[in-house]
Amino acid sequence: MWEKLRINEDRFHRDFEALAKIGATSDGGVDRPAFSPAHSKARQWFLQRAAAAGLKTNVDSAGNHSALYPCGRPKAQVVLLGSHLDSVPSGGRFDGALGVLAALEVLRTVKENGLRFNTDLEAVDFTDEEGRFLGFLGSRALTGNLKTEDLSFSTTTKPTFRKALNSTGLTPESILSAARNKKTLSGYLELHIEQGPVLEAQKKDIGIVTGITGILSFSLTFTGIAGHAGTFPMEKRKDAGWAAASFILAVRRILLNKFPGCTATVGKLHLEPGAVNVIPRQAVLSLEFRAGDRTTLEKLESVLLSATEKTVRRYGTKLDIVPMEKTPPVPTSSIIQKTIQKTCRCLGLSSLHMTSGAGHDAQILARICPAGLIFIPSIGGISHSPRENTRWKDCVNGANILLQTALSLAETKDIP
Ligand SMILES: [Zn+2]
Repeated sequence: MWEKLRINEDRFHRDFEALAKIGATSDGGVDRPAFSPAHSKARQWFLQRAAAAGLKTNVDSAGNHSALYPCGRPKAQVVLLGSHLDSVPSGGRFDGALGVLAALEVLRTVKENGLRFNTDLEAVDFTDEEGRFLGFLGSRALTGNLKTEDLSFSTTTKPTFRKALNSTGLTPESILSAARNKKTLSGYLELHIEQGPVLEAQKKDIGIVTGITGILSFSLTFTGIAGHAGTFPMEKRKDAGWAAASFILAVRRILLNKFPGCTATVGKLHLEPGAVNVIPRQAVLSLEFRAGDRTTLEKLESVLLSATEKTVRRYGTKLDIVPMEKTPPVPTSSIIQKTIQKTCRCLGLSSLHMTSGAGHDAQILARICPAGLIFIPSIGGISHSPRENTRWKDCVNGANILLQTALSLAETKDIP
C-alpha cells in the first residue's frame, strides 16, 4: 500500500546540493533575491529537473513556476505543494528551497510509482516570497489577493521593479490576472524549516503548525519636558527617556510572565533633542507584538496598552499612539493538522503543535483553501543567514511527511 511509500533520499540530496550551488556565497549560504540572475537560474533549473522526470511544467502570469502531475480527470481539483526559491540577501540554503525541492520529490515519487488520484498534484515555486518588492507577491497573485495599488511602488522602487518584470516577461497587469478560482484548489501543503529554536530544544522531529502569528505594531511617542542636564533636579524631571526605558522593560516582564509563546519587540528608539547635556523631551519608539490566535493577540494588545498608561502616570509624560501594521493571525486547517499528526505516528516521528512566528506562503493560501504547514528543526534556531542549517535526516523526515500527507489529501485510488 502507499503508506509504505518513501521519497528517494539520494536524489533529493543530490538536487539539494545542486540547487544550493546556484547563487552560492563563499560563506556557505545563497544569495538569490527575487528576479536576480541567480534566482532566474534556480527557477530554470527547477523546471528542467521537473521536465527530466517527465512532469509537465508551467509558468503562470505572475511568474510562479510549477511542476504538474495531472490525474487525467477533466476539471479535477489540485493539491498544491510549494514554497519559494528566492532568498533574502545573503540567506541560507534551506529557507524556501527545501520546500520546493520536497514538493518536486513528492511528485517524482508518485509518478515513478504510477499512483493515480482524483486530484492533480502541483509543486509550485512562488514569486518573491521574501519581499524584495512585495512579500508573497506570487501567492497573493495566485489567490486573487492583490490590487493595482499594491504594485504601485514609490518612485525610487518603480524603475527597478519594472526592470525586474521586463527581464522575466511579466507586467503588473499580467500579475494581477494570475488569480485562480478557489474552487480549483483542494488544498495547500508547505514544508519549511522552523527558523526558530523550539523543535530542537524540545527534541521533536516535526512541527505541526496550527497558525501563523498575527502582528500588531504601533509607533509610541512619550513627550516630557526638556531641561538642562546639570541644573534641573532629578525629582522634578519629566524625562521621556525614563518613560521609554521603563516601558521597554515592562514589555519584557509582561511577555515573560503572562504570554508564553508570544513575542513583543521594541526595535526602534529615538530620543529628542538627542544631546548629551539635555534631558530628553521626546522618546519615539516602535512596539511590535505577535500572537498565534486572535483572542491572545487582543488580550496582549490591551495589556501592553494599559502598561503605557501606567508609564505615563509614573513619569508624568504625555503619550501619542499611532497604529502601524495590523496582520491578523491565520489558522491552518485543523483537518490537515490531524492528517499530519497521523502521518507522524505512522512514520514513528515525534511531533509538536506550534505557531509560526514567521510569515509563509501558507498563510496566503489559507485564505482560500485548506492549508497545512510542516516544520522541521533548525539547528540553533538560526535562519536568514548563511549559518542556517538542518540535519539531513530531518529534511528527509519532512519530505516523507509531506509525501504521505499529500497522498492522503489527493484521494489515492488503488495502485495499478
Ligand atoms: Zn521561507
